[in-house]
Amino acid sequence: MHENGSQPRSYELLIGGEWREASSGERQGIHSPYDGRPVGEVAVASAVDVDAAITAGERGAAAWRRTPAHERVAILHRAADLADQRADEIAATISAENGKPLTEALGEARRSGAIIRLSAHEGSQVYGDSLPLDANPGTGQDKVGFTLRQPVGIVVAITPFNYPALLVLHKVGPALASGNAVILKPASATPLTALALARIFIEAGVPEGVLSVLTGPGGTLGDALVSDPRVRKISFTGSTGVGERIASIAGVKKLSLELGASSPTLILPGADIEKASSAVAAGGYVNAGQVCISVQRVIVHRDVEADFLDALRPKVEAIRMGDPFADGTTLGPLIAEREARRVESSIARAISDGSSLLSGGERDGAFVSPAIVTGVDTRQAFAQEELFGPAVAVTSVDSFDAAIDAANGTPYGLAAGVFGGTLSEGVRAMREIDAGSVHLGWTPLWRADLMPYGGLKASGYGKEGVRSAVEEMTEVKTVIMHG
Ligand code: NAP
Repeated sequence: MHENGSQPRSYELLIGGEWREASSGERQGIHSPYDGRPVGEVAVASAVDVDAAITAGERGAAAWRRTPAHERVAILHRAADLADQRADEIAATISAENGKPLTEALGEARRSGAIIRLSAHEGSQVYGDSLPLDANPGTGQDKVGFTLRQPVGIVVAITPFNYPALLVLHKVGPALASGNAVILKPASATPLTALALARIFIEAGVPEGVLSVLTGPGGTLGDALVSDPRVRKISFTGSTGVGERIASIAGVKKLSLELGASSPTLILPGADIEKASSAVAAGGYVNAGQVCISVQRVIVHRDVEADFLDALRPKVEAIRMGDPFADGTTLGPLIAEREARRVESSIARAISDGSSLLSGGERDGAFVSPAIVTGVDTRQAFAQEELFGPAVAVTSVDSFDAAIDAANGTPYGLAAGVFGGTLSEGVRAMREIDAGSVHLGWTPLWRADLMPYGGLKASGYGKEGVRSAVEEMTEVKTVIMHG
């Protein structure tokens, strides 16, 4: 066991439930973004392995869809129990390969069992409708019609690095629960958590053919996985650029695309400044801002701006950067130094575009100190482009209408938050902000695993959240009995 609690692990590919070396024999080391130490090793898949996983998936999907839902539930409940038992180990793996503070990783890992249980439940509650055919002129009562929801077959799940357990389980859980075979392609930076979770599903009894995990570069595996006609559904979470690539080559199949964002939080007159500043000091910097629903933009009414910034600044300056495994660390490194350099130059560009740095923004290796950038015009790149780093852009406005315009003024539309305002402004905000979720009284950084979750505009389409994911991973067949 390593002194920080995570044991370096070596994994093969999982192809149809069987562990085997990559056909090329190639392997890749995984390193901590904090100190570069090796934390594990994985096999590097190629197109040959993609074909093997899809071939196995066809067999697995045929058998799994005939497995009664109560048997699938029992297997998933065993997996959930194992995930609960191993939460500390999973958290250590998350922190080791992703660099987030252990306390955040524990919060993520401890949701695993619950997501699997929720998935098992929703996968067993797949109802159809009876059709009132006799209401259709020309049709009598001699016919009976109903809909039957069935698994799609093979689901390809492609996941990003920022929530290595959560985002994997939000795809694998509902896909398995609703009777599909799954081929998971986790982010190259964080495959170890995905593989640890896959072990749990296999140990719990997910049968041959049903689950594959292919580790390796998305740039080379992606096209083979995404364009194969034997795959019926792609569930992708990642950047808008890769999402666009997937959409352009997927062909005729179902797609869910959970993509990038530049999420706003409105601070309006009447806001509880203490609550709003605490929520922004968390929501802008959790996971070093590498969260799709991070508070990237604060849109504050000029009447409350000074009070808000006075309250926010000490809270942001109290964030403690350091070793993810050390007590008291609340900000770890970004996923790679390259990413920290990108964030550093985005901040520098914001300043040269006329904004001011109120706090933080210094880079040291893969760390960027938590930053507050004020005087940001929504048209600036700093607001328009996804930052994915520990900084918040503050834009001041003179009216509620200007706040809504600013909130909607980027290509994205994933989530938004609103503090203060009147009741009717709250109602207008819910209706008029173009975002997949709108939080009144909180920031966008909030998610319950059962709620529909997904973006509008360039943030993607399709919804996750276990019930929505089950719906998207099943399809409707209409059956008519002609008497
Ligand atoms: P990314 O670079 O788009 O990668 C995501 C996944 O796609 C990885 O597994 C990656 O593999 C794979 N990939 C890369 N090129 C591919 C291709 N041509 N075809 C198929 N797959 C390919 O994103 P990231 O940097 O890991 O994650 C950050 C992004 O995810 C941000 O934009 C963030 O907003 C978004 N995100 C969105 C949500 C949401 O719910 N809307 C949630 C979390 C994150 P490799 O790692 O091997 O390159």
